[in-house]
Amino acid sequence: MPVLAASPANAGSPLTADTASSYGWVARQAPGFYRFTLGAFRITVLSDGTAPRDVAKIMSKPQAVRDAFAAAHQTLPVEISVNCFLIDTGDRRILIDTGAGELFGPLTGHLVENLRAAGYEPGDIDDILLTHIHGDHSGGLSIGGRPVFPNATVHVDQRDPALWLSPEAEATAPAAARMTFQQSHQTVDPYVRAGRLRTFDGAAQLFPGVRSVPLYGHTPGMNGYLIENQGQRLLLWGDIIHATEAQFRDPTITIEYDVDPTAAATTRQRILADAARQGYMVGSAHVTFPGLGHVRTEHAGFSWVPAPYSTKLTE
Ligand SMILES: [Zn+2]
Ligand SMILES: [Zn+2]
Repeated sequence: MPVLAASPANAGSPLTADTASSYGWVARQAPGFYRFTLGAFRITVLSDGTAPRDVAKIMSKPQAVRDAFAAAHQTLPVEISVNCFLIDTGDRRILIDTGAGELFGPLTGHLVENLRAAGYEPGDIDDILLTHIHGDHSGGLSIGGRPVFPNATVHVDQRDPALWLSPEAEATAPAAARMTFQQSHQTVDPYVRAGRLRTFDGAAQLFPGVRSVPLYGHTPGMNGYLIENQGQRLLLWGDIIHATEAQFRDPTITIEYDVDPTAAATTRQRILADAARQGYMVGSAHVTFPGLGHVRTEHAGFSWVPAPYSTKLTE
């Protein structure tokens, strides 16, 4: 195929797939990764893609959600980013969440190609910290029943496998939750069988500069991870926010994926207030890629302040 072709035949004609490709258009984005440093730690945000959702249909206060998106000039369904975070401490390469793998269709499952584009191989990952077990966070652990990360140990709060890998819990679960049990087995079990799933109990120092921060509610064992180096702090908070436009201004808005919506809302209020007061950087799984920013108090609730794009990097 010719690389360029401003051919007379195409001049003035409507843009078709053929004519478009001749101008260099391909229907995909540039590789989805974004780098920054936190002290001496090298951080790479990795996009797994997006999951389109009509959030007004799956959240409490649907009219408030609809109004908030309309006021932001966004139409529903909105493409919700799925972001993962790689922490290269110099000693270890620690991946926070793994995206959806093959569970959610072709708009997601791009973690590994973006990891490779950023210069890492799946075999380079020493540890995977799951914020929680849900298809869009643990789904990328395995493809076709085989582990994607051959050398990684997977860490998660014990409360999540106690639910999602429990035959007793599955037997009594509502029909709507069955899919999550099945997906959890499909993607987490290969690591259990290989002896590479390790659980922790709430707040813990997992590695130098890496602590778990319990954020229970969305799932029984959801944790954020506080990354700290040379006095700089970054909190990776998992599913505290699904709908940026609605849930910062009103943290009481919950989503049907919350296992305990009341606890999820209380936890959201608490961690948003903490982030606003303390001013640390946040990395959010579902705020639009790369999902980095700060929280500030505004009116009765909060707002999100995206971090400025940076090209100022050190080697
Ligand atoms: Zn979740
Ligand atoms: Zn999620």
